[in-house]
Amino acid sequence: MRPMDDSVRMSPDTLLVSGGRPPRAPGAPVSPGVELTSTFVLPGDFVPGVPVYGRDSNATWQAFESVVGALEGAPEGATAFASGMAAGQAIFSLMPRGTRLVMGSTTYNAMLQSARDKADAGHLDLVLVDVSDTDAVRGVLPGADWLLLESPTNPLLQVADVPALCAAARDAGVRVAVDNTFATPLLQNPLLDGADVVMHSATKYLSGHSDVLLGVVIARDPDLVTAVRRHRTFGGGVPGPMEAWLALRGLRTLGVRFERQQANAASIAARLASHPGVAWVRYPGLPDDPGYAVAKATMRGFGAMIAFEPVGGVDAATAITHAVQLWVPATSLGGVESLIERRRRIPTEPGTVPESLLRLSVGIEDADDLWADLSAALDAATR
Ligand SMILES: *Cc1c(COP(=O)(O)O)cnc(C)c1O
Repeated sequence: MRPMDDSVRMSPDTLLVSGGRPPRAPGAPVSPGVELTSTFVLPGDFVPGVPVYGRDSNATWQAFESVVGALEGAPEGATAFASGMAAGQAIFSLMPRGTRLVMGSTTYNAMLQSARDKADAGHLDLVLVDVSDTDAVRGVLPGADWLLLESPTNPLLQVADVPALCAAARDAGVRVAVDNTFATPLLQNPLLDGADVVMHSATKYLSGHSDVLLGVVIARDPDLVTAVRRHRTFGGGVPGPMEAWLALRGLRTLGVRFERQQANAASIAARLASHPGVAWVRYPGLPDDPGYAVAKATMRGFGAMIAFEPVGGVDAATAITHAVQLWVPATSLGGVESLIERRRRIPTEPGTVPESLLRLSVGIEDADDLWADLSAALDAATR
């Protein structure tokens, strides 16, 4: 596995726990408060750096941002948004009219749909490519302006060689954005590989309890950070202070949660791979998975998302979502509870996703209990 970059001095497990705390002083709270205010006291003229209005800044956002920024190698560079999609719009806002954008043909459906809408409106020139095919991506970089990668991809679990593609993009003069939602900052840090901006749907692993919608964009270049913050202030997609606080509370345990989720996912994926009711399974941690070699070389773990297709097609897949009793049949991912979903039921899901693909978000329950429930549902639906 790849070690952390030297520029990130403390271990991420430590940063998660120690970051974003109030300054140490006798009587100071250990945990930051929720700054619930829309406005700030300020007589007289505007003073740079002094908060004025709740759409510009908020101390609870900043506590959350300081932890995520430090994890991604840009301590001053994180900007929180109301959702992952609001974060995605901030990235699109960096692309002026006429931008040629290279993007994965299988990308999180709402990001892909939004890019398609912008292309239809004549704003973007959109080029779709398989991001797990490094040569194919290199081939379409000449003449492009931005490369927007998601890796591993939602929901096909394709793995892009992020360091190689960042290097190729730099050579071609193409800026790079990475949606790091599935990997989390614990498994890869694209900014340290040369990406310009990184985004997360903090709704998922970072918050981790399926009780918050939140997003975040991280950049190292101060001009990009300024542009992203302007987009937040004037676009208005600001997070609620309570949501930022809940996400920070969730971050404290990301290290232990994700370790357990990954161990559970590895166990479930291996058992799915040898189940007669499973046509195929995708999990980058399986040694014969197409993404295994790149994930092993470029990431510090394999994540906790699995995709598989049961034998018996859509009917079997749907039956499984009805039959499970412990797995929750619901969209979204990254929480402590295990979720299962047939992705193509979502109207905007790309056609490159098979109709009977089931996506698993593996939680922190006991792996044997999870397998007992899933295998019983599989047996019943595929017998
Ligand atoms: C969920 C998700 C998003 C969108 O985030 P929201 O918080 O739902 O707005 C973007 N990218 C990926 C990979 C996601 O899984």
